[in-house]
Amino acid sequence: MSNQSTENAKAIFLDRDGTLNADSADYIKSVDEFRIFDFTPEALGILTRLGFRNIIITNQSAVSRGMITTEILDRMHAKLKSAIQPAGAVIDGIYICPHLPEDNCDCRKPRTANLEKAVRDFQIDVNRSYFIGDSFKDIQTGAALNCRTIFVCTGIDSPPIKVINQWRPRPDYIVENLLEAAKLIEYMGKNRKP
Ligand SMILES: [Mg+2]
Ligand SMILES: [Zn+2]
Repeated sequence: MSNQSTENAKAIFLDRDGTLNADSADYIKSVDEFRIFDFTPEALGILTRLGFRNIIITNQSAVSRGMITTEILDRMHAKLKSAIQPAGAVIDGIYICPHLPEDNCDCRKPRTANLEKAVRDFQIDVNRSYFIGDSFKDIQTGAALNCRTIFVCTGIDSPPIKVINQWRPRPDYIVENLLEAAKLIEYMGKNRKP
């Protein structure tokens, strides 16, 4: 513990929809439609206790489509923070891409500008960090910066494992949901060779 202050921080980079909350093919357009999974508070509590920064990296093209405002996004994220707080969980940062695919911005996953900004802002050591998400673009984003990647099967139309294993890059781990991901990370931390 004595050298901890000289170490860069470690982070869990989290996709939002389909990872922390139920996704919708029709976009998530209101605070009511933002439904947090039951296991999310416990999972983020574990990750917070393990000393990770919890940082959300999310594509929200619904903003540019005029379906939601950033004020509604702020209210969704306030709901998330108060839902996880009793479990001792903290969200340290939220990085949003509001653009459309055709805007060709640098921050829409699988592009990495938001992830790179988070790494700079929090002085994150990517080699000690994970990217968790429910889609191929999350795995691409995390792998591009050398984070370990974990695929969760809680998205809509989650592909069969056989298909996921053919992706390049393919996820380092595939688990049922965020809570299983947190338990896996905890287990790996305990069994790490010195
Ligand atoms: Mg997702
Ligand atoms: Zn963008």
